[in-house]
Amino acid sequence: MKFADLHLHTNFSDGTFSPEELVGHGARLGFAAMALTDHDSVEGCARMTAACAAADIEFIPGTELTAEHNDTELHLLGYFVDTQNKKLLTEIAKFQVVRQNRIREMVACINQLGVPLQAEAVFALANCKSPGRPHVARALVKAGLVANLDEAFERFLKKNRPAWVPKAKMSALEGIELVHQAGGLVIMAHPGLNRTDEIIPAIVDAGLDGIECFHTKHSTATSGRYLEIADKYHLLVTGGSDCHGFSKGKPLIGTVKLPYEHVEKMKAKIAERRSAAVVSP
Ligand SMILES: [Zn+2]
Ligand SMILES: [Zn+2]
Repeated sequence: MKFADLHLHTNFSDGTFSPEELVGHGARLGFAAMALTDHDSVEGCARMTAACAAADIEFIPGTELTAEHNDTELHLLGYFVDTQNKKLLTEIAKFQVVRQNRIREMVACINQLGVPLQAEAVFALANCKSPGRPHVARALVKAGLVANLDEAFERFLKKNRPAWVPKAKMSALEGIELVHQAGGLVIMAHPGLNRTDEIIPAIVDAGLDGIECFHTKHSTATSGRYLEIADKYHLLVTGGSDCHGFSKGKPLIGTVKLPYEHVEKMKAKIAERRSAAVVSP
């Protein structure tokens, strides 16, 4: 039986593993295919391609976009995207700037509480273009300003805590269009975490290709519910661990093993779409 993990982060966003380390874990666990889904980034895909080739693992380039629809936040996974696509790279670059500004705002809030964290310390630790809250948490720990990551989130960074800053997001429709024009498939990530059930019909109408039914934080019942929804709307089924290395506790790779047949269905859909694009003028 062949398995895939289609939701993974490296240190090109808020994961702690390098692409090579991540592939090392994937190889140890016997994965046949792995996808990289760094937040607002496809930068790690080149090194993942090489590392996966050396380990005889199939690599699927991807990214994870934060979007919203009617004030509901959702995460969109784009798979099989062209990582050189100009529009994709331009839009991603915009959201990377938004992320960097958000870090400065969060640090300013932390400073107002008398905690002397420096934004530059966060950027130095992040060492990537897509910094996020886990980097702020790790910088707080590193500077000895909190005891651990949990304290950083509880005191400052969790939603509605004093240093939480809302993130500017693209609309779900823009995100879907962006991934499609880059030749990719759009999958709704971990719907059980974002409580997006109400908006699923509208997102399907907008062109959603699939749902991440299997995720570390989905119970068996939750996965079952999304499998039914995927079936109802004729959507692809995906799954992944959402491993961030040591960024959010212990590494999660290996907790979700998606049967490879789902990857085959994704590839069939891509092939079908590309051949339709060739036939139509
Ligand atoms: Zn996510
Ligand atoms: Zn993720």
